[in-house]
Amino acid sequence: MTALGGLMTQRNPPPGPTRAPRPDAPAPTSDEKIALAWAHTARFLTTASELPQLPPTELPEIAFVGRSNAGKSTAINMLTQQKRLAFASKTPGRTQHINLFELGPKTGADALFADLPGYGYAAVARGAKLRWQQVMADYLEVRRSLTGVVLLVDSRLGFTELDRQLLGFVSPRVGNGSVKLLVLLTKADKLNRKEAREALAGVQAELGDMTTDEADVGVTLFSALEKTGVGDAALVLYGWTHPGGSR
Ligand code: GDP
Repeated sequence: MTALGGLMTQRNPPPGPTRAPRPDAPAPTSDEKIALAWAHTARFLTTASELPQLPPTELPEIAFVGRSNAGKSTAINMLTQQKRLAFASKTPGRTQHINLFELGPKTGADALFADLPGYGYAAVARGAKLRWQQVMADYLEVRRSLTGVVLLVDSRLGFTELDRQLLGFVSPRVGNGSVKLLVLLTKADKLNRKEAREALAGVQAELGDMTTDEADVGVTLFSALEKTGVGDAALVLYGWTHPGGSR
């Protein structure tokens, strides 16, 4: 397992999305720039409420999953630099859908992002929860093109029961190395250094069970507000979908 960022922090940051990146945030490396430029090509492809409605594809697909309010839309927006695209999943009628985005050259897409429904609203009725479980389990267990999962977890909360349940759906494929996993510990700007270290260590310890020789599991601190972890995450996703390093 790899812990990517030691990317930190400032206590009690002012709220709002407009804060400048930390002045000491490292500039993106040239590899990160290539990966980010690739992520920025994302465009909306289609939306589906059930697995059979998703188009079959030979392209590697990366799924974004997480509890509602974990910062999934903000992270996708940050990675792709396309506000409308990430928040498409929040438009009425689409919140329970899987939204697919295409990446790479327009004439030769080379990967897909799948934004899966956020989960964990306390108010959601039992029927809707069961449906969520079914859609997630189906997708994570059988979607053939699934190459990697990005799990967004609020760094102040760590894994919740529903995160663990979701990991359970995909852990056989993570364990045998056929699906890779990246956990982004979001809103890291809200933690001080010690809290950030503890958040990383806690999540790594829990993921230990899944970590076999074949597994490719990473954890990184992420802050859309301070733009930390964004280049790291882009690099990981680019690596998953371009294993030969082709550019
Ligand atoms: P989603 O439901 O998982 O898509 O979550 P959103 O992306 O809508 O984010 C939920 C809330 O967390 C919003 O109020 C965001 O402004 C806030 N948020 C998201 N990312 C960050 C971050 O990196 N730092 C801080 N401080 N707040 C964030």
